[in-house]
Amino acid sequence: MEESGYDVVIVGGGTAGAVVASRLSEDPDVRVCLIEGGPSDVGDDRILRLRNWINLLETEFDYAYRTVPQPRGNDHIVHSRGKMLGGCSSHNTMISLLPPPADFADWVAAGATGWSYADMLPFWGRLATRMQPVVERNQPSTSSRPRAARSMSR
Ligand SMILES: Cc1cc2nc3c(=O)[nH]c(=O)nc-3n(C[C@H](O)[C@H](O)[C@H](O)COP(=O)(O)OP(=O)(O)OC[C@H]3O[C@@H](n4cnc5c(N)ncnc54)[C@H](O)[C@@H]3O)c2cc1C
Repeated sequence: MEESGYDVVIVGGGTAGAVVASRLSEDPDVRVCLIEGGPSDVGDDRILRLRNWINLLETEFDYAYRTVPQPRGNDHIVHSRGKMLGGCSSHNTMISLLPPPADFADWVAAGATGWSYADMLPFWGRLATRMQPVVERNQPSTSSRPRAARSMSR
């Protein structure tokens, strides 16, 4: 008789849930069930085309939570949250910043063994994608660049 059931059930196939499910399922002996509240992104160009992210906001792919009434504030702020496989990482803009080594050192000092800058750098390499620099004719002229950007580029 075929055995049914799972060793692990992960609720939420968003950024964290999908990564945890992927890592756990690397072990063929572990049966992983990933439950996602939204639809799959497989073959759906509306989701898979990065430049379309902004058109996903406040659609069926967005929980679009709203702030509760504020006595002295803005009542109408929409707090976007992705409702699809991949969660918010399926409609975010894929900006990623490598934290400074000192931040990792603080984590290690607080007990996060194995999370040092040196330990994490290989994973950063797996995430990073080399981008084609913008050709010179499409770059803003030096005089029209903001002052901060000019001084950083020297
Ligand atoms: C518009 C936008 C742009 C962003 N841009 C960037 C960026 O450029 N760079 C960056 O680093 N970060 C960015 N972020 C933030 C980043 O995407 C999120 O912090 C991160 O993806 C959150 O991951 P998570 O796993 O905690 O949650 P999520 O990715 O939101 O995953 C939660 C998942 O759980 C599912 N779920 C919820 N309730 C249930 C339920 N009851 N049953 C089943 N499934 C359920 C949801 O549908 C969702 O898929 C952006 C966020 C948004 C909203």
